[in-house]
Amino acid sequence: MKDPKAIQITVPKGVELIIRQIEQAGYEAYAVGGCVRDALLGREPEDWDITTSAKPEVVKSLFLRTIDTGIEHGTVTVLLSVQEAGEGDRAFEVTTYRVDGIYEDGRHPKAVSFTGSLEEDLARRDFTINAMAYHMDRGIIDCYHGQEDLENKRIRTVGRAEERFTEDALRMMRGIRFSAQLDFQIEADCLQAMLALRENLGKVSKERIAVELVKLLCSPHPERVKLLFSTGLSDFVTQHFSEIEKRGIPSLLGNAKDKKYLRLGLLLRHLPEYAKEILEELKLDRECIDQASAFVELFSLEEADSPYALRKRLSHYGLELVQDFYETKALLLENVSNTPGKAMSEQVKLRLSWLQKIQQEGDCYTLSDLAIKGKDLLSIGVKAGPAMGELLHQALDYVMQNPSENDREALLSFVKSRIC
Ligand code: ATP
Ligand code: MG
Repeated sequence: MKDPKAIQITVPKGVELIIRQIEQAGYEAYAVGGCVRDALLGREPEDWDITTSAKPEVVKSLFLRTIDTGIEHGTVTVLLSVQEAGEGDRAFEVTTYRVDGIYEDGRHPKAVSFTGSLEEDLARRDFTINAMAYHMDRGIIDCYHGQEDLENKRIRTVGRAEERFTEDALRMMRGIRFSAQLDFQIEADCLQAMLALRENLGKVSKERIAVELVKLLCSPHPERVKLLFSTGLSDFVTQHFSEIEKRGIPSLLGNAKDKKYLRLGLLLRHLPEYAKEILEELKLDRECIDQASAFVELFSLEEADSPYALRKRLSHYGLELVQDFYETKALLLENVSNTPGKAMSEQVKLRLSWLQKIQQEGDCYTLSDLAIKGKDLLSIGVKAGPAMGELLHQALDYVMQNPSENDREALLSFVKSRIC
């Protein structure tokens, strides 16, 4: 048995303040869950959660500003001032020790009850590595061998996998997501339980599935998405999601930029006909759906064969997407050593050099950067309306072919030549 005090974690000022204040009132409190896991791994925790024996009403009475975040599940958000929290986060979720009641729907416990036992609270958590608590004086509380599993890089449920996944099917996706984020192996019995219980994922909301899928894809090991297919969970992510495997799971590049749209686009790039539908079914935000679909589309287009064609592409898709597209394509081709692959890699490098030049020279490829506007056309007698829009687009196309002509006089004479 490890000495729980042998390991010290640096806890944010705000977390320590909350724990001390709750304790002064006669209760227990600990940092818990993902933050303890990440701190032990030397990763920056996304958020710090606190677990306490104090009931929510007590927590609320101890702090000036609180929000009833999930009061029926015992969660109160405590808001601290800058003086109290220092540089770091100022909002922390404080949840009362709880035992989850019966899960009837494979998603949520029917009811929760509060308990005075930290051990019971830790038992309701999904994986051993997420079921540890930390206190500045008492050290790590690790009833389910989370530290051992961290050392062995192992994802294991607290208790029997089948039971835990039957309670809440999302945990199956969380397991795969943690394996991708941490480069951990999932225990064989967990994988078997995933295979056996895959259908239950169909009971989980698409929004919750999407959160896990995005975290998985944006991790250093997005290729672990293959576990969704080998367990059959993929059939319940969205309709048509399993088609991805039928086309051959594409390379997913753990070293590509970890932008949501880019990672989703990489996954869907061989499935352009279903990409948008899948993204919409996952109820991702509109911007992400549009960008990821456009990214997929870029993969199916003919290569831009001149700087003019590239400017047109920039005009349509914007700089971010086009730049990301070529940078990602360069990464995809980096390790391809056959002759066609090398030739494609050279082609991509050439596009990247064109892109750089276009930016350096400030070439115009949007109407907003065009040296003439609607009012300039009005001044030469063009009437407002669709025809004016058409002329501006023609002027833009002319400038994309002749970048040095983005000049008011030159463009007005171009437009005049068009209307005469
Ligand atoms: P992240 O790094 O994404 O924040 P996390 O492990 O902290 O990962 P959260 O969703 O923030 O995940 O949840 C905090 C903690 O609550 C988890 O570490 C785990 O102990 C518990 N938990 C979260 N979701 C579940 C679940 N579906 N079933 C059981 N326990 C859960
Ligand atoms: Mg967390």
